[in-house]
Amino acid sequence: MTARRLVDFHCHLDLYPDHAEAFAACEREEVFTLAVTTTPRAWPRNQTLAAPTTHVRAALGLHPQLVAQYQHEVELWDQYLPQARYIGEVGLDAGPKYFRSLPAQKAVFEHILRACARAGGKILTVHSVRAITPVLDLLEAHLPSQRGRVVLHWFTGTRAEARRAVDLGCWFSVNAEMFRNDRHQKMIAALPADRILTETDGPFTAVGDRPARPADAALALQHLASARGTTVDIMSKMVLSNLRTLTDAVE
Ligand code: MN
Repeated sequence: MTARRLVDFHCHLDLYPDHAEAFAACEREEVFTLAVTTTPRAWPRNQTLAAPTTHVRAALGLHPQLVAQYQHEVELWDQYLPQARYIGEVGLDAGPKYFRSLPAQKAVFEHILRACARAGGKILTVHSVRAITPVLDLLEAHLPSQRGRVVLHWFTGTRAEARRAVDLGCWFSVNAEMFRNDRHQKMIAALPADRILTETDGPFTAVGDRPARPADAALALQHLASARGTTVDIMSKMVLSNLRTLTDAVE
């Protein structure tokens, strides 16, 4: 049996107890991993750890759930932008705990999208909890698809919302957790095959009683294969080929 190379396009490697070991494991296990950050202060260390690796890339983020507290760090985010090809975690969260900061989140996200559009060539991993319409509205207004690529992470919209996102040029990174919901499973099954990647969102998802780690992206592949009526092998090849297309497109 040949080992399958996996893709974890959204993982918080800096939130595991041993940050350096989390990077090393991606290398050993050959998991192509996007190490997202939640504030730009975390960028230098993640970038330093990612730079010598084959499989890990670091993303420059400012998480919508932290905007209420760290909005001022958008200046630091601007400073690091020229160094970063991958951007995230960014986006909007209109869930009950973060709803009050939604106006500030929108201002920050719009700023980020405009900066990415000006720079060109960025690849973004975007959070859209209870905020799919405003996320898609801001993408449509501020980041033309030829100026950057957007991957919607843990997208839980309807099939109609997914179609709108596809028409805007968006991609989707799906994790095993999403398949627990029947409606989400059906939406995922209907996504275009050439827009799908896998993720874990570790350590925020669990496998049994431990936090998920990048190699657990294998579970998302299994769920994808069964939801879409195909084999894990075909899904695995598709996701690897999609990753290549995504990252070559804006080289
Ligand atoms: Mn996340």
